Amino acid sequence: MKLAQIAIDDLNIPHLVSSLRSTCCPACASSKRTKWSLCKRCYAALSRATATSLYNPIGGGYEKAMADALRDLGKSEAHVPFPKRTNRPHNERNTKESA
Ligand SMILES: [Zn+2]
Repeated sequence: MKLAQIAIDDLNIPHLVSSLRSTCCPACASSKRTKWSLCKRCYAALSRATATSLYNPIGGGYEKAMADALRDLGKSEAHVPFPKRTNRPHNERNTKESA
């Protein structure tokens, strides 16, 4: 599946679920285990408080924990294997240029 880059503030629950199920680290896009939030390397780089908060359930603080984790890692976007809905086909390009 293609990766979408989602700004941290735009991450929603479907993104997070999709990311957890995938083998792609949302911070560095390298491989991770499914059900893990991050790859080992990124996880190891987190502050203890942030790493601990990643054990919060989705809907119970996980969203904020993930945002904090990505920011701790210096990221402004997450790599999420999720189709971007905002991608529209560039149909307008086909309008006549020579009038
Ligand atoms: Zn990583």
